Amino acid sequence: MVKELTHYIGGKHVKGTSGRFSDGFEPMTGDVISKVPLASKAEVRACVENAAAAQPAWAATNPQRRARVFMNYLGLIAKHNDELAEMLAREHGKTIPDAKGDIQRGVEVLEFCVGIPHLMKGEYTDNAGPAIDTYSMRQSLGVVAGITPFNFPAMIPLWKAGPAIACGNAFILKPSERDISVPLRLAELFIEAGGPPGIFNVINGDKEAVDALLDDADVKAIGFVGSTPIAEYIYTRGCANGKRVQCFGGAKNHMVIMPDADMDQTVDALIGAGYGSAGERCMAISVAVPVGEGTANALMKKLIPRVEALKIGPSTDMKADYGPVVTKAALEKIKGYVEIGLKEGANLVVDGRGFKMQGYENGFYMGGCLFDNVTKDMTIYKEEIFGPVLSVVRAKTYKEALDLCNDHEYGNGVAIFTRDGDTARDFASKVQVGMIGVNVPIPVPIAYYTFGGWKRSSFGDLNQHGPDSVRFYTKTKTITSRWPSGTKEGSEFSIPTMS
Ligand code: NAD
Repeated sequence: MVKELTHYIGGKHVKGTSGRFSDGFEPMTGDVISKVPLASKAEVRACVENAAAAQPAWAATNPQRRARVFMNYLGLIAKHNDELAEMLAREHGKTIPDAKGDIQRGVEVLEFCVGIPHLMKGEYTDNAGPAIDTYSMRQSLGVVAGITPFNFPAMIPLWKAGPAIACGNAFILKPSERDISVPLRLAELFIEAGGPPGIFNVINGDKEAVDALLDDADVKAIGFVGSTPIAEYIYTRGCANGKRVQCFGGAKNHMVIMPDADMDQTVDALIGAGYGSAGERCMAISVAVPVGEGTANALMKKLIPRVEALKIGPSTDMKADYGPVVTKAALEKIKGYVEIGLKEGANLVVDGRGFKMQGYENGFYMGGCLFDNVTKDMTIYKEEIFGPVLSVVRAKTYKEALDLCNDHEYGNGVAIFTRDGDTARDFASKVQVGMIGVNVPIPVPIAYYTFGGWKRSSFGDLNQHGPDSVRFYTKTKTITSRWPSGTKEGSEFSIPTMS
């Protein structure tokens, strides 16, 4: 049965009125399971007005009380963990254990949010001048919006909603139209946890809804995560409209493998980081760079049988390594890249394009593909494929491997596998990438550090979660106050100084 889904505004489910919908799929079967409403400009405006009306009271609520809502919220997400994971796997296609990881990474940021009152404290200097005290405070921005991608429908909405709301803002989420059920449920649970209506809203839609948020003067900040062309568009238009904007884009994450690396450990790490979640992670490893021919040959000897043995299954198969990709269009795009790789002369040593899942013939499945002898001028090296396709680029020296990482237009994550501390230290210091793993394949920082790439993987100055999220979602106000005790100093016409 095809279910018509809703928006979530002011603590209530609201039916779409634009008359426009997109199909929501179940990737493991290929079936259409929902109709996703695509909001009009007027619907977005109504949502913003509702959020703006609710925000002042939430900002005035003392931070401890706001933190208590987060504690309740954490309890409710834990209680509904199985339900959320099943819902997520059904709409996204990732396996249920992987869906639980998606939720958990979001939960960790909510745990951080419980302590946000500590980071919102201002500063105070008494006697900064004669009878003058100076102090600063952090205040919320008002209504802020998050626009998120399909690939982490729990984690990324929570990375945006958690810090924004904990800092006293009203939040509007525009999730990917591919998988909106978990975001809707997360907004509902926030209200159940004691959050006031209007503080966590979900508006569904496409470019029309995004443009309405970008152009609405009452939306003070936009946090975006998705592909680089859209990130750049949102950053440019949002900034031109005077908003605070941070946009996180695409990636091409390299794993450099030094001759002294523990090859078993390396291959274990590479197979999970390259093919987990069908390669649909912004921190997936999509390029392996063995240094030296001996290293490359040893790697391929162990890697090829592991790629051939990958277990692909429906999202409900608890033992599958990964499930289907998100849509038929995504599947075709990924297969198209494999074609291009072959045409441009890369060596396809494992070809998973023909994979069929018995009993799920219409699902969006793809076997693991592995390319050897990829070079840096090839399309499959330059562009993000976002599927279960790993490219091996052979480097002659460490310097060549380092230059490769630095010359790529993306700079989200990178890893080096080595047993040599000097090399690891040099790499961490010189590589032009935002998040580095040393013998760690997917170096997503923990919640109280910040997450963000460099180069064309990120637009804006501040990262997501951790202390940067408090900086992004608050404004600093500095107060200079004088309470003179009867002294008269007269007027002063030159700039006051502390001399
Ligand atoms: P996407 O860019 O297609 O969509 C992201 C969001 O933008 C969605 O909400 C979508 O509705 C909206 N959108 C799409 N086209 C738009 C347009 N023309 N105008 C305005 N809004 C538009 O990305 P996706 O396919 O959902 O997600 C995959 C991408 O996200 C990959 O490139 C991946 O690397 C990236 N990603 C990056 C990070 C990071 O932190 N850097 C994390 C996760 C995913």
